[in-house]
This record gives sequence, C-alpha cells and structure tokens, in this order.
Amino acid sequence: MKVTVDPDLCYGSGDCVYRAPHVFTTVDGFGAVIPGREETSDDPTVREAAEGCPSQAITLTT
Ligand code: SF4
Repeated sequence: MKVTVDPDLCYGSGDCVYRAPHVFTTVDGFGAVIPGREETSDDPTVREAAEGCPSQAITLTT
C-alpha cells in the first residue's frame, strides 16, 4: 500500500500524525509522509488516518 499526502489539500490539522506517527510527520506545519515510509503494509492506523483526515488529503493506493 502506498501512502501520499496532497499538500494542496492538507491544512495542517495534525490528525494523521496523532493517529499514525510512525508514518506521518509535519513539515513546516503541514502533514507529510515520513521519507521511506511511503510503502506500508495494510495498517489499520494508516487507514484511520486517511479516513479521519478532515480535508481528505491522504490517498492510499494498492
Ligand atoms: S490529517 Fe490531513 S489535513 Fe491534517 S495534517 Fe494530516 S494530511 Fe493534513
């Protein structure tokens, strides 16, 4: 599963970092995937982060 964050949609709520800090971080106040963590197994916390993103900026592709 590949994880991406659309920087044009993200407004920096930080929810993704709270839910899955092993995959997400903030850069200059906006959500981002930690370098090297773009590919992840089917991880429920990452799915929760994507579903819980208030701006739907997180995309999961298989
Ligand atoms: S949850 Fe969504 S809006 Fe909030 S920081 Fe993460 S990607 Fe950005």
